[in-house]
Amino acid sequence: MSSRKKKVERAAKKVAKKYPKVFITLVIILLVAAIILLAVMYVKKWGPFKVMAPPDHGTLLDGDEAEIAEAGLSIHFLELGNANAGDCTLIKCGNTEVLIDAGSKTNSTQTVKEYINKYCTDGILEYVVATHAHEDHIAALIGELNKNNGILYSYKVGTLIQFAGTHKEPLNNKGNKSLYGYYCDAVEYAKTQGAAVYTAKQCWYETDGAKKQYFLDENNTVSLNVLYQKYYDTDTSGTDENDYSVCTLLTQQIDENTAYNYLFTGDLEKKGEESLVESNSLPQCKLFKGGHHGSSTSSNDVLLEKIKPENIAICTCAGTYEYAKKPNAEFPESQAKLSTFPTQKALDRMAKYTDRIYVTTLGILKDDYSTETFVSMNGNIVFYYKDELKLYCSNNTTVLKDSEWFKANRTWNG
Ligand SMILES: [Zn+2]
Repeated sequence: MSSRKKKVERAAKKVAKKYPKVFITLVIILLVAAIILLAVMYVKKWGPFKVMAPPDHGTLLDGDEAEIAEAGLSIHFLELGNANAGDCTLIKCGNTEVLIDAGSKTNSTQTVKEYINKYCTDGILEYVVATHAHEDHIAALIGELNKNNGILYSYKVGTLIQFAGTHKEPLNNKGNKSLYGYYCDAVEYAKTQGAAVYTAKQCWYETDGAKKQYFLDENNTVSLNVLYQKYYDTDTSGTDENDYSVCTLLTQQIDENTAYNYLFTGDLEKKGEESLVESNSLPQCKLFKGGHHGSSTSSNDVLLEKIKPENIAICTCAGTYEYAKKPNAEFPESQAKLSTFPTQKALDRMAKYTDRIYVTTLGILKDDYSTETFVSMNGNIVFYYKDELKLYCSNNTTVLKDSEWFKANRTWNG
């Protein structure tokens, strides 16, 4: 040890002996400062807390509309012809079609039917799934009220799989037929036309002829699997419909060792997602329909960690205040807009797994934050398999984080 070091040590000891309390206080201050610094680094994701970039999922080839009809499997997320968030997913496997939900309003009916007719040429929808009893998922199944022109009236339905529970009543408190009442009528009509109608619970327990797995092709390589979550069996308590959502996994066997998985969870929220993860051995997913239109209450870490989605499609009208509190004097726009769909919180969680997030529609707002109209974001989003998975969008295939809307309204924390 150099004599200089020894001198410094001796001096320090002298100081410590003379001023023990000051010395201890100094150490405590330094410790507290270090903890604060670490906390700031953690929150800001600096240094060792830097978020790892999402895994490289390779390139997703840009598809071609003309190729979709020849594809072995295609999954379509539809634009719904208005400025309201809503779900409608069409799956086509050969001549077999599956329709999961048909929102967002009864006036979406024509738009949805015209789109289906491009791909369903025999007037038969082999499977229809109604995830839960909210308008933005069942309105176009019903169609315009009293006109009997919705999906369930216009196509021959093979098997209808619907929610096991609801708090809706067929009559509203004024004694008039509710939207759910109209839905029940449409389901009854489909039954008279030969549809087999089951709840997700019947499918899961395979009672009354229902099954939990339906093969969509002759070679049994593509299957629609009804997953379990506890709200098939239990009340969500209160008025929450979302957690009743029917959850399905589409599995496509590519070869002996490889399967591609595509997950659809309706509007399932946190408790439902937790139950879904506990109840099924969920695989890594090529594609996930972003839960509940990209709300902050869905697409939680517990689910995303399990499925590690490579691609996410969100069916919504981005940026509208349909489901969010409008800004006011105490609630600045900069804050308020973060909870419009798709929310910053949900996107932050998704960003850990992929930057390939696609959104159907974009809302155009007036100065008072009401919605003026809508335009396409990605438009109709179609993932299809032709030698490999490809993406076609009717407007463009720009990922959300690179869109002008995103740059003006959200932050990419991936
Ligand atoms: Zn919804």
